[in-house]
Amino acid sequence: MNIEVSQGATTFRARFGGNTGIASESLVVDGTSEQRQRWLPLLASGELTGCFALTEPEAGSDATALATVAVPEGSDFYRITGRKCYITNAPIAGLFTVFARTDLQSKGSAGITAFLVERGTPGLSTPPGYRKLGQHGSPVGEVVLEDCRIPASAIVGGEANLHHGFRTAMRALNKQRINLAGLCVGPAIRLVEEMVWRATARKQFGQPVADFQLVQQMIAQSNTDVHAARALVLETARKRDDGHDVTMEASMCKLFASEMCGRVADSAVQVFGGGGYISDNVAERFYRDVRLFRLYEGTSQIHLVNIARRTVAQIQARTKAEGA
Ligand SMILES: Cc1cc2nc3c(=O)[nH]c(=O)nc-3n(C[C@H](O)[C@H](O)[C@H](O)COP(=O)(O)OP(=O)(O)OC[C@H]3O[C@@H](n4cnc5c(N)ncnc54)[C@H](O)[C@@H]3O)c2cc1C
Repeated sequence: MNIEVSQGATTFRARFGGNTGIASESLVVDGTSEQRQRWLPLLASGELTGCFALTEPEAGSDATALATVAVPEGSDFYRITGRKCYITNAPIAGLFTVFARTDLQSKGSAGITAFLVERGTPGLSTPPGYRKLGQHGSPVGEVVLEDCRIPASAIVGGEANLHHGFRTAMRALNKQRINLAGLCVGPAIRLVEEMVWRATARKQFGQPVADFQLVQQMIAQSNTDVHAARALVLETARKRDDGHDVTMEASMCKLFASEMCGRVADSAVQVFGGGGYISDNVAERFYRDVRLFRLYEGTSQIHLVNIARRTVAQIQARTKAEGA
């Protein structure tokens, strides 16, 4: 679905895909059945907007450095204090999946818990969203939590999941990365079409610019990129549906598809010529909108690091097993 809808506008997809994707995914992978029944229908129907609040001013690529804390109050409540930044839908969300450190002695990924925090909770506020490069229809902002009193029943997955919130975040993101890769393929498909329409309509030197081999190269390269990314995304999604661990492949999908989409958007601007640089041109809009794909849900550098680490580990394990 991401591949289809994002051909129109990435922000249109973000409006509902954020809800049914990243904002719901923590509940899907780890929520209790009561939590799922209560929240997922509201998120899926769009009655409620959700968001996934992990990133903080000092915890971006290293999300385990988060400083938001949740301190127990008796056995039934927690007090959450912290500040989240760059959170998609924060300004309009009614439900926030907030990641906070519950074991204050622990470091890194240990001792983090995911909480469901409702709009209206005293101490929770969301300043006006940021102005940004693209995706203007998708509000993104901060979440401020000042001593928010949250029941223990709002821990994603219940108290059995106390201190295991980082695992929840990673499981949610793992699937989400395949979604996001699909989201990168859609605009690229659209842009190849737009390039062809423009290049065949636009005449210079007495002939359509599509007749020039240097323009054809941009179209051919872009369409090849689209096909490679789509095949990778679909194969990885199928493997995941068949129950395989696709952690590394999901990273590859996100890396390849987001970089591919950036290359295609750049070529589209080039094929449009000066018009591609003028506001409200389709290539100009997608060029700005898709730039985000290389940044969120793991930057390209972070995915490269992950893929390298897993590739080395996989080959070392195989070599050892074959040698044994
Ligand atoms: C519009 C938008 C929407 C977002 N939505 C959400 C959301 O809904 N929820 C949420 O929790 N977060 C969200 N984010 C945050 C996003 O996930 C982070 O911005 C991203 O993870 C990068 O973190 P950072 O911005 O702090 O960059 P930094 O981590 O400071 O990275 C800066 C640079 O250093 C590089 N770098 C960092 N570490 C390494 C390393 N180990 N090796 C090599 N290079 C490295 C990075 O690749 C990058 O180039 C959103 C961001 C944006 C811009």
